[in-house]
Amino acid sequence: MRTLEAQARTGVVVDEYGNTGEEGAARRDEAVRGAVERGLLGPDAPVVGLLDVTGIRESARELRAAFDAVTAPGTPVLHAFAVKATPLVPVLRLLREEGIGAEVASPGELALARAAGLSPARTVLDSPAKTAAELREALALGIAVNADNPQELDRIDGLMRSAVSRSPLGIRVNPQVGGGSIGATSTATETSKFGVALRDEGAREWVVRAYLDRPWLSRLHAHTGSQGIPLSLMVRGVEETYALAEEINGRIGRPQIDTIDIGGGLPVNFASEATAPTYTEYARALRAGVPGLFDGRYGLVTEFGRSLLAKHGTIVARVEYAKSAGGRPVAVTHAGVQVATRTVYVPGSWPLRIAAYDGKGRPKSGPEVVQDVAGPACFAGDLLAEGRALPLLDQGDHAAALDTGAYYFAHHYAYNSLARPGIYGFVPDPQTGGVRFATVRDPQTLASIVAESGGAHVGALTTLHTPGSR
Ligand SMILES: *Cc1c(COP(=O)(O)O)cnc(C)c1O
Repeated sequence: MRTLEAQARTGVVVDEYGNTGEEGAARRDEAVRGAVERGLLGPDAPVVGLLDVTGIRESARELRAAFDAVTAPGTPVLHAFAVKATPLVPVLRLLREEGIGAEVASPGELALARAAGLSPARTVLDSPAKTAAELREALALGIAVNADNPQELDRIDGLMRSAVSRSPLGIRVNPQVGGGSIGATSTATETSKFGVALRDEGAREWVVRAYLDRPWLSRLHAHTGSQGIPLSLMVRGVEETYALAEEINGRIGRPQIDTIDIGGGLPVNFASEATAPTYTEYARALRAGVPGLFDGRYGLVTEFGRSLLAKHGTIVARVEYAKSAGGRPVAVTHAGVQVATRTVYVPGSWPLRIAAYDGKGRPKSGPEVVQDVAGPACFAGDLLAEGRALPLLDQGDHAAALDTGAYYFAHHYAYNSLARPGIYGFVPDPQTGGVRFATVRDPQTLASIVAESGGAHVGALTTLHTPGSR
C-alpha cells in the first residue's frame, strides 16, 4: 500500500489525497505561539484547550462529500454529530453551519444542541437510559428517537397512544458482530448493554414483530463501536443492520423502514498528523460491502463524534517545574487527569502524542531525552506520557497533548478541584501571519468551584441532627 510504504520511508503517514496533516500542524504551532503572546496561556492560566476552526470545517466537508459520493442523488442523509465527543455549544453551532446535526444521549446534551440552535428535525436521541419525561419531551418536539430495549418501546407505545408525534422512531439493535481492541468502546459484543441483542434467542423475531405491529416504526439503528474497531467490523455491523431492515420490509410487504442509522465510530489515528482512515475510505467500504444501502431506497443517518473533532483540538500546559527522579527527567505540567482522563487511567489504550514548545510557545528542538510528562494531580499515575523521547522540557516551557479535540478537554474531571481550563477557537490571520482567537468556554473561576462543591450549603451537615440525640 502506498500509504504504508510512504510511512515506512519517511515516518509520515500520507492519506489518499496526499494530505499529511502538515497544514493543521502549522496552524497549531501558530496558535500555541499566539496563545502565549496573548496571555491566554501563562503563569495565571497554565493550561488551555485550543480548537482549530479551519480543521473542523474541513472534516465536516470531507464527511459530507464522502457520503454524497456514494449515495444515489436525492438520498436524504443526516450527519448527526455525537455531542458527547465535544459537548460545547459553539462547536455545535459551527457544525450546524457546516450542515451537521446532533446526536444526543442525555437531557444535558439535548439542551446543548437546542442552545446551539439545532432544530428537532436535525437531532437524534439515543441514550440507553431515557426517562419517561425525556421521551415525552423528545416526542413532543419531534426529535428522532431510537428505542434501546423492549421496556423503552412500551413507554413509547404509551406516548404514541396519547398524542400524535412527528418524531421518526426506530429501534437500536446490537448486531453482536464482536469487539475491537478497546473493550470500553466496543458496543457490539455478545453482552453489550446497548440495543436489542439480535442473535439472542427469539430476539430477531421480536424485532420483526415490533415493526409489524407498529406502522410508525420507520428507522433501524446500530452503532457497532468507537475507537479500536476495525473498518471491516464496522462494515459488518452495518451489513447486519441492513439485512434486518430488508427482512422486516420484506415481511411487511412495504418499505416501512425508510431510514437506517449506521451510528458513528470511525477510529482516529493518534500516532501522527494524518487522518486515517478517512470518511471516503469508510464510505467506499460501506458501498462495496452493503451496496443496497446506497441505491436510494433508504435515507441515512450517521453519528460520528471523535473522527470529526479529535485532530482539531490541542491541550497546552505550562511546565511549572522540571525535576529529576531516579535518573529520569520529569516535567510537572498543568495538564493531567483532569483534561486527559482516559489517557491517564488507561495509558495503554489511549496514548497521546506530546509536542514540546518553549517559553514563548515556539516548537522546541534539541536532542530527544526520555522523560515523563506529569500532570498536577496528587497521585503518582497522573502522567500525560511516561518515558517519552522529547526535547528536554524545562521550567516555563509548554507541553501540548495533540489530537485532544474529542473526549478530552471538554470532558473535565474534577479531581483535586482543578479548574476547567479556558477553551479558545482559532483561525489563521492572513494580515499578521498569526491567528485570531475566540473564546469557546471561559476558564472556571474559584467561586464557581466552591459553588459546584456545595458552597451554598456550608452548614448543611453540622445543622442536621437526629431528633432527640442532642
Ligand atoms: C458514542 C456514540 C457515537 C459516536 O462515536 P464516535 O466513536 O465518537 O464516532 C455515535 N453513536 C452512539 C449511539 C454512541 O454511543
